[in-house]
Amino acid sequence: MEIRRVLRSSTCTRALVMSCLLISGLLAAEEPGPATPGDAPVQPKPPAGDDGLEIAQRPEPPPADCAPCNNTGRAVSPSLKLLYVLFENEEAPPAEASLGWLPCTQCVRGKAHIERLEAEGKRLDRDARHKGYALREKQLGMGFIDFETRQVTGHFQTSPSEARGTALLFEQVAQKLRARTGAAFLRGTPEDLHIAVVENEANYLKYLDYVAADPSNKDLDENWKALAKKTSSFGSRNLTVIRRDLVVPPKGFGLGHVAVFSFGQMLVRQSTENKVPLWFAGGFSSLCESLVFAAPVCYSVRYEQNEVAFEADWTKAIAQALNAKKARQWATVFTLDEVGMSALDYQQCWAIAKYLYERDGLAFAKLPGLFAEGKSSADALSEAYGQKLDQLEFGWMVWAKRGGK
Ligand SMILES: [Zn+2]
Repeated sequence: MEIRRVLRSSTCTRALVMSCLLISGLLAAEEPGPATPGDAPVQPKPPAGDDGLEIAQRPEPPPADCAPCNNTGRAVSPSLKLLYVLFENEEAPPAEASLGWLPCTQCVRGKAHIERLEAEGKRLDRDARHKGYALREKQLGMGFIDFETRQVTGHFQTSPSEARGTALLFEQVAQKLRARTGAAFLRGTPEDLHIAVVENEANYLKYLDYVAADPSNKDLDENWKALAKKTSSFGSRNLTVIRRDLVVPPKGFGLGHVAVFSFGQMLVRQSTENKVPLWFAGGFSSLCESLVFAAPVCYSVRYEQNEVAFEADWTKAIAQALNAKKARQWATVFTLDEVGMSALDYQQCWAIAKYLYERDGLAFAKLPGLFAEGKSSADALSEAYGQKLDQLEFGWMVWAKRGGK
């Protein structure tokens, strides 16, 4: 069990946002990959002919290369370029809008995806969605505005316009990640990831009890609960619960920051099968925040509250630290574990993730898979970027000293 996360405030009240990693995070059902020659079924050895020669028997030829879909069986739908936000009371658009693709019509692999599309059409049915939402609300004894984006389902106790604005932020982050990294960080579906926003302390505590009472979360101990009570959010790879009254002004920077940061945490944990090193989880989540806001403001805590004060401008803070030789070596950053991390530590995690993201989106897209394989940070970065770690680190220093240019 781990605990994390906080919204920092550079001026007055510190609104803490913490989360714990709940155990049993469901992984998105793995989609079978495209067939490759290596996947062809092993052919039984043919019986030897009377003449003692083996009868030649050819395996089924693998499907030919399909350029239109790059052998994925899926063609990018034009709707992928649109932001997808669907509220509970709205009629669903066609299934390809939520999935973001159409089955490829040029190859046999596309046929497998027709079924997926049909299943999605059923899931999107308004009555079916409503049933799922109603069950959660009944169990919790509280009502929400419910919606989904392509990656997450939201359960918000807030105004419809605030819910919609936050949903659009999720989609904007996802769209940017999609453009830069393909779908590498976007494995979740709305059914896998949930973000709840509750209006006050009473409902926050109620939700906390509900999560803690789930037998699959039995490793959440009293210390975790005590910490969760002090912070303005808690969560896991699959669920984040945010206490709204602590994150909106005047106490906080706004719901959007915490919601997007939490969204990033869930994306990176899911895409790495929860094997993400801590520096990268934090750095990536702050990166998501900075994709839609001028500057990140959130950070995570685990185990205990960790109140730190930040320079408002993270880019400047890192440049100054490097010039003053106060920044840490990457090798040290890779071992950070959130106990007693300084503001500069959080900022450095973000700055490294941002550099890696901006430098090469395709290399960045390889990271979740490498972390999921259990590679160390150093090995994963060298392999993805095809460079020795010290060269990469040197490049980062030059970039960061120039203010991220
Ligand atoms: Zn195809």
